[in-house]
Amino acid sequence: MTSISESYELIKSQIRSAADKSGRDPKEIELIAVSKTWPTETISELVECGHKTFGENKVQELEVKSPSLSSSLRWNFIGHLQKNKVRKVLPLAETIHSVDSLDIAKRINTIAHELGLFPKVYIQVNHARESTKFGFSPEELSQSFDSLLQLDRIEIEGLMIVPPFDPDPEKVRPEFAALRKLKNKVEQSSGLKLPGLSMGMSNDFHIAIEEGSTSVRIGSSIFGKRKVIKPDQKD
Ligand SMILES: *Cc1c(COP(=O)(O)O)cnc(C)c1O
Repeated sequence: MTSISESYELIKSQIRSAADKSGRDPKEIELIAVSKTWPTETISELVECGHKTFGENKVQELEVKSPSLSSSLRWNFIGHLQKNKVRKVLPLAETIHSVDSLDIAKRINTIAHELGLFPKVYIQVNHARESTKFGFSPEELSQSFDSLLQLDRIEIEGLMIVPPFDPDPEKVRPEFAALRKLKNKVEQSSGLKLPGLSMGMSNDFHIAIEEGSTSVRIGSSIFGKRKVIKPDQKD
């Protein structure tokens, strides 16, 4: 079996090649190690390799892991966030990748104000309009963007997408390209530059980088296959 440090080095070199291939500076691309379901001992192995940026999708897990690991780690929240969990997640995660409605954005803004924080956020887009996934449709995003910009405690980094899984990553390329174009469109209409695109996972991050990703969220290619969590263990 490959060790975490070997997988990590391999992923970093694949990120560099994807960047080279598309004439981009690999430093523009942030690697978020998605540590969901893995215990702190496993995360520590990657910390030993010098990695500091992690992603979690459940508030309960983040609450357990964050205090028991080095305070120098930077946590990203990447899952659907419920209104009643915002107060818990904001002090723990510096970036929220999954702002999937205007309501949750407003809630984050209010609580950030109360707590004296300025969280970074990505706006999640549901391009394929899958009913099972959360996020703004492109039309909703255009309509809501002004309201999002008025929320003065959140710093909008850019757009995020979780495209439908396809074993052939080339099939996902149009989703990534569409997110890049949507970002250009809202930049033009708002006159505001958005620095980032959070897109690309284990199976398709090289394609996402070719299409302009600045933040890849990679779990299983670093840590291995996750065990399936039984429904009664979910929060
Ligand atoms: C689990 C997860 C990932 C990582 O998925 P892998 O295929 O294991 O790399 C990335 N983004 C989100 C939103 C996730 O929930």
